[in-house]
Parts: sequence; structure tokens; C-alpha cells
Amino acid sequence: MSAKITMGENGVLQVPSEPVIPFIIGDGIGPDLWRASVRVFDAAVAKCYDGKRKIIWKEVLAGEKAFNETGNWLPEETLSVFREYLVGIKGPLTTPIGGGIRSLNVALRKELDLYVCLRPTKWYEGVPSPVKRPEQVDMVVFRENTEDIYAGIEFAEGTPEVRALARFLNEDLHVDYDFSSSTGMGIKIASEEGCKRLIRSAIEHAIQHQRPSVTIVHKGNIMKFTEGAFKQWGFEVAEQEFGDYTYTWGQWERTKESKGQEAANQEQKEAEQAGKIIVKDIIADNFLQQILLDPKSYSVIATMNLNGDYISDALAAMVGGIGIAPGANINYKTGHAIFEATHGTAPRFANTDTMNPSSILLSGVMMLEYMGWQEAADAIVSALSATIKDKTVTVDFYNLMEDATLLKTSEFADRIIEKIL
Ligand code: NAD
Repeated sequence: MSAKITMGENGVLQVPSEPVIPFIIGDGIGPDLWRASVRVFDAAVAKCYDGKRKIIWKEVLAGEKAFNETGNWLPEETLSVFREYLVGIKGPLTTPIGGGIRSLNVALRKELDLYVCLRPTKWYEGVPSPVKRPEQVDMVVFRENTEDIYAGIEFAEGTPEVRALARFLNEDLHVDYDFSSSTGMGIKIASEEGCKRLIRSAIEHAIQHQRPSVTIVHKGNIMKFTEGAFKQWGFEVAEQEFGDYTYTWGQWERTKESKGQEAANQEQKEAEQAGKIIVKDIIADNFLQQILLDPKSYSVIATMNLNGDYISDALAAMVGGIGIAPGANINYKTGHAIFEATHGTAPRFANTDTMNPSSILLSGVMMLEYMGWQEAADAIVSALSATIKDKTVTVDFYNLMEDATLLKTSEFADRIIEKIL
């Protein structure tokens, strides 16, 4: 019997055998990709659980389809369904152009306080990549999703607000800076609770998935009380809440100061031998070099919003681009989670049945994992990998591969399903 996914009192998601899962079909190429992907999800679940489990899909409206049918880009009904059913999945949505309409994605994130933007990046054999060793990339990015300059507190050049802010900074806070009359200003936000909940989720993920390290990526050398505080709070969470599982570079620094470098190195070595997760940090610009030079040294990444934006896309490009990069926005406390393709609506290709559904497919895989339906998730990943390895692919990969066979979106899904059944 169909039922809702709920959050148990123990903080563990309760998933019935026939959960109702809301989905947004998406705009542009969304419907083509969804129609193909949903067949793959259903086939994997039916096969892995002998028909004893089944997803009951519930369509909710957002984007152009919602606007055409209801006159509203994001109907209240959609928000309340996601609020009620906890876990959902969405295709790409057009960002409406025009005053007063927020990005629909941002509205969903804000409404449900989805504070983690989760972006795993892993290479699948055969996927065309611009780097020499894409197989060395296996990272999971935890990007803070609610703060930083994305809080939306900014003032345009020439307005009374920006002049008032400049005056306040100069006169009340004694900031010695000559603001020209053509200055716009934005405010960067980093709260202790906002940063800590993100880093906590990253460390919990590392523990659950037996990852060797969590790297805090930041610009604390320049922005000490936001990015620098993020790093500081990260080490605090690791040491105070997960001391039995982690060893931080903060600890290493302190041991070095009190007992010397050799003792600190020895301490870190012992922690590694004991299987502890190393919690380290790196400045963001250096990190963007290191993912190209030495990607295998990084596993789970915790970072603030803006850095996370750049890092997720750079990593996605290394393993095959946005056609295959999945994502999710999650609140691990309430259980709310929306899984989504990371690409946009590519409107020129709408209804052509040509685009790559892998990003939505792998978002669905993340969703199945989140629900604890690991067998179905694994079945999709191995069938998808085998299909790409056979060089039977959609046009984006076809153009970059030698001797490949070109498939439509729907045919690509057929091949994957054949390999599952
Ligand atoms: P886009 O991702 O839609 O398209 C850029 C290009 O990437 C396309 O022309 C296409 O060549 C390629 N591409 C995208 N998805 C692909 C797929 N599945 N398979 C193969 N190739 C693919 O980016 P855009 O053109 O900047 O944005 C179009 C619209 O999408 C805008 O309205 C934008 O606001 C919106 N958008 C939505 C989301 C979202 O809902 N999560 C994300 C990004 C952009």
C-alpha cells in the first residue's frame, strides 16, 4: 500500500515499500529526459525487489507547465507536497525572466531549508573527459546552500541604501575606505550554526561511507571572519563532536607548536593507521589547481556557497560534464531532499529525444541511496556504466567518442533497461 516517507524519531528516514515520491517533470528537455529515466527507475526497483517494492510517482507542477496550467510558476500546492512527502526529484526549470519572480530552484531550497547542496563527482569508464586520469576523481562536494553572498543582501550603485551603508561603515564602524559614488555592495553571511550543520553533514557522510578525508575548502586567508571562521568551526565540529572518528590539521598544528613537527607527523600517522578520517583544509584557489594535479588526495569536500558553485562545475567537467553530473539539495535534520539534474533546460533541444538523461538517472540513483534502496541504485549504475562502455550513447558523448553508436534518449534508456533485466 502506498504511503509517505517520514523521518523517524531516531533521525533515520522511514521508507515504506510503496513510497509516494513527488516529481517535477521540468521544462525544455526535461520531459524527454524524465520519460526515459522513470522507466529505468521502475525497472531497477521491480527487478531488485521482485515486485515487493514500488515507487508511486506523484506529479507536481513547477515552471512553464505550472504557469501554463495555473498562471503561477511555483504553486503553493507543489511546495506543500514536497513538504509533506519529504523526498522528491525534479527536472530542470526555466528561470522566469522579469521582475519579482525568484529562481524556482532557489525558492524550493529556501522554503524547505535545504542547506546541503550535494554533488558527487565520479568518472564512469568510457565517458569522454578532458583530463588524463579522470578515474582518479572520486569526490563528494558538500556545498553550503543558504548563506554566503547568496543570501541576496546587496545594494545597487547610486541608491540611497548603498549611500546609507557606506556612511554607516565610515562613521559608525570607522571603516577607513573611500567608497566612490559608483559603488555597489553585497554582504557575505557565515553563521556558526549554518556552517557547522553543513560540515557536520560532510563528516557524517565520510563516516558512513568510510571515506579517508574531509577537506574544508575556503578563502580564510582573505576573508577571516566568514571563510576563516568556516574552517575554524569545521575543525571544532570534527574535534568536539566526532573526536573518536577524526584527526584534524588543527590538532596537528597544536601538537607541532607544543611538541614539534616530528611528533605532529607521528600523531597524524597513528591516526591514519587507526582508520581515522583526516579533516584538513586548503585555500580555494590552490584547491582548483590540486583537483587537476592531484585529485586522488581529496575525497569529501566541505565548502561555502560560492566556492562550492565553482568547484562543483569544475569537477563535473573533469568527469564528463553537466550531461552526467547529478545533484541533490538536502536537509538531513528534517529529511527533506530534492534530487535534480545539474544542467538546465537546453530549450533548443526540447522534444528532440536526443539529450543525455544520465544526470537525471544518477540523481535518481542518489535518491535511491538516500532511501536505503542500495540494490536498485547499484543496478542502475552498473547498467549505465556498461551502456557507456559499449559506446552506445547520446549525441553529446557520441561527438567526443570514436566508433560510438548514436542513440536517442529513449533508446539509451532501452539499452540500460535491457542490461538491468
Ligand atoms: P543548459 O544547461 O540548459 O544548456 C547549456 C548546454 O549544455 C546546452 O545547449 C546543451 O548543449 C548542453 N546540455 C545541457 N543539458 C544537456 C543534456 N542533458 N545532455 C546533453 N547536453 C546537454 O544551460 P543554459 O542554456 O544556460 O540554461 C537554459 C535554461 O535553464 C535557463 O532558463 C536557466 O535558467 C535554466 N537552468 C536551470 C537549472 C535547473 O533547473 N537546475 C540549471 C541551470 C540552468
